[in-house]
Amino acid sequence: MKTEGAVEKVIAGDVRTVARLIRDIDDRIPEVRDVLKALYAHTGKAYVIGITGAPGVGKSTLVDQMVNHYRQQGKSVGVLAVDPTSPFTGGAILGDRIRMQRHSLDEGVFIRSLATRGHFGGLSHSTRSAIDVLDAMGKDYIIVETVGVGQDEVDVVKSAQTTVILVIPGMGDDIQAIKAGILEVGDVFVINKADREGADKTFNELRQMIDMGHHKYEEGKWKPPILKAEAVFDRGVTELLDTIDKHRGYLLEKSRGKRPGRSKERVREELAEMIKNRLVQEVVDRMVESGEFEGAVDTVMAGEKDPYTACDDLLLPKLRALK
Ligand code: GDP
Repeated sequence: MKTEGAVEKVIAGDVRTVARLIRDIDDRIPEVRDVLKALYAHTGKAYVIGITGAPGVGKSTLVDQMVNHYRQQGKSVGVLAVDPTSPFTGGAILGDRIRMQRHSLDEGVFIRSLATRGHFGGLSHSTRSAIDVLDAMGKDYIIVETVGVGQDEVDVVKSAQTTVILVIPGMGDDIQAIKAGILEVGDVFVINKADREGADKTFNELRQMIDMGHHKYEEGKWKPPILKAEAVFDRGVTELLDTIDKHRGYLLEKSRGKRPGRSKERVREELAEMIKNRLVQEVVDRMVESGEFEGAVDTVMAGEKDPYTACDDLLLPKLRALK
């Protein structure tokens, strides 16, 4: 892809170029970096919302309603469905092709899924790049949807300015099982399927857990609200969007007008993540592709080497070559 032409086309909102770029990001094509570098100056205008929760809680249904509401307000929306399926097994938990078909003819909506076929993580890194592309494309809102199951997904939602965590009534033990890490990144909690029994009980449990986990709350700090919704009936969606708006206002005030949600801490994290990914891509992925990695696994399995030595033998020559 020619950098210059691609940059112009993305900024002009060319859907085909954007789709191709996102696919290249997903496939980790190194040349994408030049396009991303050039696009960065055109980012920072979109508002990024993360939606996470266990499979089946209603994420896709809710995102679909949110898209509808934003479209009615005349806003353009990008949706990234981040699929945490292991690159070793393939497959897709979130199939965007069959989802949200009713927006498929709407030019103001762009929906794609990201799976990242890298060998060692990197999902949050490619998500961030894809967000930058949709941002440069001119989307007003970017919704990142992911299944909240592991650390990788926690990292994914960290790219959002407002993170919404979805649960359903009667999760009981499951609520206990929501990772502390996930609870901490939640800015807004939604109890979806509130038409089901047990919504109040879940509300109380959740309130307690959040309050316990956030003992660091001080006056004037954002206290994550808990809302109830019935996504499938479009109930509670307006309230959710209002709450997201409030959180946006809060961030804006906190950042004193600068790019909200872009604290020094966030930039530090992003840069460290980028370096880590680049290293993995340059070194580890190549080891896997050349078969060296599997070879080392075999030597450990055969008892010929301990894993520490196998690691040194693999890595040290590569590190020396980097100098
Ligand atoms: P996801 O896996 O989190 O994306 O969940 P989906 O959006 O695919 O929803 C899973 C199922 O729950 C679907 O059959 C939805 O129609 C249903 N669902 C979504 N929201 C509600 C709700 O508010 N009430 C009820 N009863 N069902 C819902």
